[in-house]
Amino acid sequence: MTATEPADFRDFRDFRWDAVEHRPYKEDASAAFSAISRQVLFEAPALACELRYFEMQAGGYSTLERHQHMHGVMVFRGYGHCLLGSTVRAVAPFDLVRIPAWIWHQFRATRGETFGFLCMVNRERDRPQLPTEADLAALRANAEVAAFLDETLR
Ligand code: MN
Repeated sequence: MTATEPADFRDFRDFRWDAVEHRPYKEDASAAFSAISRQVLFEAPALACELRYFEMQAGGYSTLERHQHMHGVMVFRGYGHCLLGSTVRAVAPFDLVRIPAWIWHQFRATRGETFGFLCMVNRERDRPQLPTEADLAALRANAEVAAFLDETLR
């Protein structure tokens, strides 16, 4: 039997995990986002995927982006809205969102409270693409999406 390591067990308290660093959402400051933090819960090379926990304060939002790699998301805390392609959905704890390749996506905290979600992603992955003016115009052709973006970009 192989011995366990202390890092094999990490207690959860106040939406933080022991020995998990509380990091900025993105190292790259070129993308628009607000009031959001990142904890990487699992990133062992043997797993081929990573599990991260993102949390945003009231009024916070993630980057509007798309990429080749997929996301598997589970809402973990609070209430938010999710933009997925031309769909805007209210999401609540333990709802699942599958984000396919090349679909525009963004999360936004709603109801004036903290909103957090778990996100599973490939360890090896492409860099996200940000929308051009033309992409934004195309997204805005949908009134519901436009309303979502106006709230986000305010
Ligand atoms: Mn993404």
